[in-house]
Amino acid sequence: MKNLRATCNDGLNGQTTSPPEAPKPGDDYLCQVSGSVSCGACCGLYNVADDSRAGIEALLAARSRRFAATPRTFEDVLRFRRVSEQRENQQRPLSDFHHCPYLGLVGPRQETVGCLLHPLEPLNRGLDFRSLSHYGGMTCHIYFCPATRLLPARYKQMVRAVVMDWYLYGLLVTEHRLLQAIFEEIEYRLNRPLFLDDFREHPEACRALEGLFELRVSWPFRPPGRTRLVNYFFNDNRHPRPDITPPPGEQTIGRYRTILQELETRTNTVGDLRRAELHLDNQFRTLQECLQS
Ligand code: SF4
Ligand code: SF4
Repeated sequence: MKNLRATCNDGLNGQTTSPPEAPKPGDDYLCQVSGSVSCGACCGLYNVADDSRAGIEALLAARSRRFAATPRTFEDVLRFRRVSEQRENQQRPLSDFHHCPYLGLVGPRQETVGCLLHPLEPLNRGLDFRSLSHYGGMTCHIYFCPATRLLPARYKQMVRAVVMDWYLYGLLVTEHRLLQAIFEEIEYRLNRPLFLDDFREHPEACRALEGLFELRVSWPFRPPGRTRLVNYFFNDNRHPRPDITPPPGEQTIGRYRTILQELETRTNTVGDLRRAELHLDNQFRTLQECLQS
């Protein structure tokens, strides 16, 4: 399998990508970004037994290879699902969040997370097989997660422009509370709104913002045992994040409350809380300095 990862580092080093371009129509569309970055979180991408990058890549690649050899008849497409469910590990962090067995790798180089049943997939020859999925064709066609509706367009443009890694992108893009709080903190520090142009003018800020976003995966202050990454963001709120509570001796969590909550931070002691705050202070200060240089 090809390495799907690229970073805005590449652009900063003058290698493969450039600083973000000026926004164009459609640049706030979150589901598909490029030939290597897209999202499948609402199809259950991260609700798998092995939610590591390597684990998900291997799962999608194997599944896509098998689907390429599947005749496009209703019976064969349904059989593909049954065989997938027999072969693949069905243990899931969230047992009531459907993981779609038709999620795979699509696009000309098979590098993009996407729907194997979509009519634009060349082997489907214009036929839409999504009606055979668990959710049915209509839901697959019209569903959009809360982030797509709630985040301001300029925030969506910056997420799209900065995150060059599909694995992080899909984990981050549904986190509308976390993203909103991160951008609001930056704007508070700058005392003005933030726009995509800021990253064109200060390309080194891409890396600093991506560093903040990567906390979604690597946050070192989660409670022990809290390892699952899947986010349940649907409106029925069946799996809310646990409420963050102040440590003994503190009345409230006054700083970074939403960010700490959404990153699932342990706050058993004042020391836990201060270390997490300090970590965020450093990351935000680095980004602020890049944007004000
Ligand atoms: S989770 Fe949201 S951004 Fe991701 S594919 Fe679904 S609707 Fe699009
Ligand atoms: S069939 Fe629906 S749920 Fe499955 S991958 Fe396609 S869009 Fe997602």
